[in-house]
Formats: sequence, structure tokens, C-alpha cells
Amino acid sequence: MSTIIGSRSWTNGSGSVVKQRRRSGTTGSVTPAEVHTRIPELAVDDLLGATFCPRDGLGNPHEVTQAYVTQARRLGVRFEFGRTATGLRVERGRITGVTTAQGDLATPMVVNAAGPHAAEVAGWAGVTLPVVPLRRHCFTTEPLPFVHERLPMIVDMASGVYMHRESGGMRVVEPAIHRLPALEAAQVSNGWAGLYETTPDHNAVLGPPAGVGGLMLANGFSGHGFMHAPAVGQLIAEWIVDGRPSLDLTPLRLERFSEAGARAEANVI
Ligand SMILES: Cc1cc2nc3c(=O)[nH]c(=O)nc-3n(C[C@H](O)[C@H](O)[C@H](O)COP(=O)(O)OP(=O)(O)OC[C@H]3O[C@@H](n4cnc5c(N)ncnc54)[C@H](O)[C@@H]3O)c2cc1C
Repeated sequence: MSTIIGSRSWTNGSGSVVKQRRRSGTTGSVTPAEVHTRIPELAVDDLLGATFCPRDGLGNPHEVTQAYVTQARRLGVRFEFGRTATGLRVERGRITGVTTAQGDLATPMVVNAAGPHAAEVAGWAGVTLPVVPLRRHCFTTEPLPFVHERLPMIVDMASGVYMHRESGGMRVVEPAIHRLPALEAAQVSNGWAGLYETTPDHNAVLGPPAGVGGLMLANGFSGHGFMHAPAVGQLIAEWIVDGRPSLDLTPLRLERFSEAGARAEANVI
């Protein structure tokens, strides 16, 4: 379940609501009064409206990744954790291998999935990839009385703050007290920082770059890569195995950055 709150940025929010409603049939607009009824702890005085999608869910990245690893192993995938790639071998415009700290690997196909390090990896093949690391900090509070299992993820579009339940407390990114004043008294139990992998238009870069055969880019998710991962994995696999993905990914090709008319993502958190 997610509630997206549009205050000053309502117009941007409502554009995506229309699209989401068309696709899922469930995302609906709600008034500030309805937001207050659902979550009385939220400050709603400065809201124009909000959206709510009861079918949304929350996933634990560690558990989901481990599930993928387990299932992939069952299908015969071999993982080499701790093996650091240090370069790409390219001959006559095609990938022929990867150099690693523990020896070279011959391969005709490499998927760049190096997250915030993607630009460095692409650079080994002479590809300029505008993916820049951006540090983001999260805090988890001690359990709070109003945080229950069905509390939706809350996204404040104007400030970019988002909050969701984590072990009975709230996971909080950046100043959230304005939207949820009760957080002022909350004890922070944990905190960590990570790197977003941002692109100039805050959209992913997917597919083969022009000029290097055998290189596939799956990069630049700009802070949304966990949500996108299942679809991206499937589409990139289709591209490699079938020669084309089942969805038109042309708008996400690398070359868009050097073309006029590239469309930037308006809803960035
Ligand atoms: C604080 C925070 C909160 C977030 N919250 C959300 C959220 O709510 N929802 C959401 O969808 N997304 C969220 N994200 C974004 C999400 O975590 C990323 O978009 C996603 O992890 C990107 O996945 P990836 O596989 O492309 O890269 P990563 O998960 O960064 O994985 C890249 C991997 O490549 C490896 N690697 C890099 N260089 C080398 C090398 N030279 N040799 C070998 N291995 C290498 C790294 O060790 C790493 O394992 C959040 C990010 C942060 C920082």
C-alpha cells in the first residue's frame, strides 16, 4: 500500500496517477480529510490531495535478493562472490572477456549491473555512461505506537521524504517531522547510508550501447532499482537470449542523452 502526497507538486503527482490508474485500476485520489482519517498522525494542512493504492506492497531487499540467488542456483547459475572485476577486454568492437583481480574470464557477453560503479565499468569499454553516485541516508526509529502492519508507505512529493514500516518502527529518509510530527519524539534505533545511482533525467539506462557488441547496460535506476529489478532482469534476459525485449525500451537507451527532447522524470524521491 502506498500513499503519495501531493502538496506543491500535485500536478506532477496527478499525471502519474492517471497512468497508474489506467494500468492497475486501483490507484485512487484521496482528499486531505480522507488522508487524515486513514492516518491521523499525518499533518495534512498544506496538502492539495493524495493518492492511495491498496494493492501496493513492501519488499525486503535482502530476502528478495537471497530468493533470486537460491532460485538461480537451482537453475544452474554459478555465482562468484568476492571476485572484483578490473577491466573489460574488447576486440574489434566486441566484448571478449572480463579481467578480474583473480584472473581473466573469456565471455562474449557482459551485463553492466555495477550500480553506483556503473560509469567506471562502462568506461573500461570506452563507453561514457552518465551515472553518478549520490549518498542517501536512512534512519530507523524504535517501535512507535501508531505504526501497524497495514500502515502504507508514505511519500511526500514536495520534499522527497518517504517513510515506511520496518520492524515496528519507521524507516525515515531525511527530514520527515514536518509531515509526521510524532517522529520528533521518536528514538532513532539505527541508521545507514547508501548510494543512489543517478542519471541526468533520473531514469534507468537499459540495453546495448552503440559501438560495443556484447555489452548490455542495466544501470542508473536513480533510487528505484529494487522495484524495477524483476522487470529489468526479465527484459535484459530476453534481449540477450531472443535478440529483443518484449517491451519497447528505446526511450531508455543511452544515446538519448545526446539527443534533443529527452524527457526527465518529474517524480523523484
Ligand atoms: C538509502 C537507499 C534507499 C533505497 N530505497 C529504495 C526503495 O525503497 N525502492 C527501490 O526500488 N530502490 C531503492 N533504492 C535504490 C536501490 O537500492 C538501487 O536502485 C538498486 O540496489 C540498484 O541495483 P543494482 O543491482 O543496479 O546495483 P547495486 O544493488 O548497487 O549492486 C551493484 C553490485 O555490483 C557490484 N560491483 C560494483 N563494481 C564491481 C566490480 N568492479 N567488480 C565486481 N562487482 C562489482 C557491487 O559490489 C554490488 O554488489 C534505495 C537506495 C538507497 C541508497
